[in-house]
Amino acid sequence: MIRQKSFSNEKPTLYLVPTPIGNLNEMTPRAIDILNSVDIIACEDTRNSGQLLKHFNISKRLITYQNFNETSSTKGIINLLSQGNNIALISDAGYPLINDPGQRVVSEVTALGYNVVPISGCSAFLNGLVASGLVAQPFIFIGFLPPSTHECIKKLNLYKSYPMTLIMYEAPHRIEKMLKSCLEVLGDRHICIARELTKVHEEFIRGTISEILPVANELKGEMVVVIDGKHDDYEKDIDIGQILNMVNQSIASGMSTSAAIKEVAKQTGISKNQIYDYVHRQSEEKGVC
Ligand code: SAM
Repeated sequence: MIRQKSFSNEKPTLYLVPTPIGNLNEMTPRAIDILNSVDIIACEDTRNSGQLLKHFNISKRLITYQNFNETSSTKGIINLLSQGNNIALISDAGYPLINDPGQRVVSEVTALGYNVVPISGCSAFLNGLVASGLVAQPFIFIGFLPPSTHECIKKLNLYKSYPMTLIMYEAPHRIEKMLKSCLEVLGDRHICIARELTKVHEEFIRGTISEILPVANELKGEMVVVIDGKHDDYEKDIDIGQILNMVNQSIASGMSTSAAIKEVAKQTGISKNQIYDYVHRQSEEKGVC
């Protein structure tokens, strides 16, 4: 067991300092004080953080801490703590560790018994969650889903039976594809896309996935996707019988099976592979295959 009383020992400290996710007025006086008081600031990108620090007139030695060099950066930070330096870890925006570097150094530094002190501030997912209008707890913060549709669907299958609110980060060029995968796996749930939080163009788009999908590829900027947890009524959302009827009607009107599947995929937002599976299962049940 290791007990840490943050402010009643002489050990060096690693401070976890959040930085604004857009609006610079959200930098707190305490965060500024801590950055001014430490010996060294570890950051993701010295150019980005250099600009932020300049804005607040903070002049400090900067070192980099990135995921790709976590092992050596962690060793470096531990070495600096062992020499008595207090260090602040910051990321480009929001909290370090939240979809940003820092996990390894915090695990190792706590295990060695140094102080690790978090400074309050914001993380985009919390702003998104509390304003979403969806149930705020329990929730699960997932972060980014994998970019490949196959892996994304696999991940979503893990969460699809969870009754808690799901929170994800997504990039604008992938949001449409991601929402299609969500529709396919989770059903037509209520969601909120929280865009450009704390910035001039902040926007909340609330509705069902199928209502939001048509505008998804117009959405720009940074975004948090908050998705309602599983309720029984979402079970009925993908009506396989209806999907098969649509495919069968298109085939009856003269389309090939693959063209019919493609057309129904376009109309419903469900992937061609998923519809192909339904059609294949239907054929097997009828003994056609
Ligand atoms: N450490 C950050 C935090 O605590 O929120 C997250 C960093 S992660 C690399 C960047 C992602 O966070 C963006 O792609 C976006 O999904 C989300 N994000 C960051 N700032 C945002 C903002 N102002 N509005 C909406 N989403 C934001």
